[in-house]
Amino acid sequence: MAAINFKTLNDDDVNEFFNSFDTVLTDCDGVLWIDMRPMKNATQVISTFLELGKRVFYVTNNSTKSREEFVEKCKTLNFEATKDNILCTANLSACYLQDLGFNKKVYIIGSKAIAKELTEVGISHTGVGPDSIIENVPYRAFKKDPEVGAVIVGFDEHFNYPKMVKAASYLNDPNVHFIGTNTDERFPAANNVIIPGTGSLVRCIESCAERKAVIMGKPESYIADLLKKKYNVNPKRTLMIGDRHNTDILLGTRCGFKTLLVLTGVSKLHHITKWKRSKCPEEKEYIPDYYINTIGDLLPYLEKFKCKTITPST
Ligand SMILES: [Mg+2]
Repeated sequence: MAAINFKTLNDDDVNEFFNSFDTVLTDCDGVLWIDMRPMKNATQVISTFLELGKRVFYVTNNSTKSREEFVEKCKTLNFEATKDNILCTANLSACYLQDLGFNKKVYIIGSKAIAKELTEVGISHTGVGPDSIIENVPYRAFKKDPEVGAVIVGFDEHFNYPKMVKAASYLNDPNVHFIGTNTDERFPAANNVIIPGTGSLVRCIESCAERKAVIMGKPESYIADLLKKKYNVNPKRTLMIGDRHNTDILLGTRCGFKTLLVLTGVSKLHHITKWKRSKCPEEKEYIPDYYINTIGDLLPYLEKFKCKTITPST
């Protein structure tokens, strides 16, 4: 059984580990930063990976930012990034519909970022923003837009009953595509306040539409398919770094990536102990190959490895 404490590796094991991958997929929230606070030494770890010639992709289930907005955030926090190494669910949803040759309109429960990514690939949309309850107008009076051929559900602070009525009505037609950006149930708790995540909204629409959504984000395999197809990524030479067992680590396990869990976000050491004892096969898939307290703790190992592998030019 895996779940090796990274800090117990000897020098040879560490070298073997860093030599075993060419591509790094890293989750963002809870790994590289929390809100606008970068984790200690995280920027140096990413820049050292890049110096060593590793390809780095930022892989996030967050649907509230477009790729451009993620690049901006990375730059503000000193992480090197371009649109091409951001995999976010607003963009993945647009790519998915584009791959299908979709040419109708999308009803969005979600953010402006989804709208922006759809516009970029020439797909029209409706639904972003508040949708108020109009007094004395019965919900039965809602008239479907015949152009709508897909419903996307992402994170939406304006989520409410009228949006549920619309989404479920569109989805009553089995030809209408149903996309969920991700299934994260909650955001990491702060001050004991529970912030429901997109997964809660997706489950709600699935329930009233009596259908299952196609999920874009981790742990579903669309991301991995895209990485293989578009970027030629070899799963066997790929490392997935994440803080969440049922998205980051599960994606890695399912796709044959090496996995490294950091303990700065959702999943903790006591969870690993629980999964190791569990008889449930899915919980076994949550067990990472390695774990380490924070991504920044990789820095001294990476520095040492860099000295050995990159000979300074004289
Ligand atoms: Mg995370």
